[in-house]
Amino acid sequence: MAQGLRLVLFGPPGAGKGTQAQLLRDSLKVTHISSGDLFRHHLGQGTELGLRAKEYMNKGELVPDEVTIDIILDKILSVSDEEGFILDGFPRNPHQAEELEKALNGKSRNIDKVVHIEVSEPELLRRLGGRYVCRACQAPHALGEGEDAASKKCDQCGGELYQRDDDGPEAVKKRIEVYNQETMPVLGFYRERGVLADIPGDNTVGQVNKQVMEALGA
Ligand code: AMP
Repeated sequence: MAQGLRLVLFGPPGAGKGTQAQLLRDSLKVTHISSGDLFRHHLGQGTELGLRAKEYMNKGELVPDEVTIDIILDKILSVSDEEGFILDGFPRNPHQAEELEKALNGKSRNIDKVVHIEVSEPELLRRLGGRYVCRACQAPHALGEGEDAASKKCDQCGGELYQRDDDGPEAVKKRIEVYNQETMPVLGFYRERGVLADIPGDNTVGQVNKQVMEALGA
């Protein structure tokens, strides 16, 4: 049977990784794995993992590797070869990228493509300030000027929309700093492996989706 796509969506917070991952999941029928969604799910359930992750998430810092890597790799390795996956938010530092590579190599697999969505910092700040997330299915929504989250429901499942604690100005500043310092070096890792595609992410959702599909040769 044909193998599914193994893709990493890469980019700063607010680049649109979650939105693009959902579009690709629906069109390519691959599993979407978001490390942030997984942590938020645990947080909502009040599990030990969720409580541990919360102290880092709320400050805009990375959850330590010893908490993150095993749980995400478990999820990745549980996806069948035929189905394939899109990673959104993982790997977020070179050590995570190395551990992911080791785990996939253990199954004679590799990452097929890393799509890097580039967005300028002013645009990231603008987007994160107006971003609301569905409490039930985690779908991200951009609220337009004058729109009120309380009167709007998730356009995917009708769930309640809320603003993430870490989308406040202080945490956003920290998350962008962490991205520049800890996450950006992952790009060099994948560039060396010849799987990196850079695409501009300042455009509309539809235009970015088209460029992602082109980068995938789809
Ligand atoms: P995200 O939804 O991808 O913006 O992630 C929200 C928060 O979850 C991040 O700011 C981190 O605190 C934590 N997080 C998500 N993915 C990772 C990861 N791969 N490594 C460490 N922390 C992560």
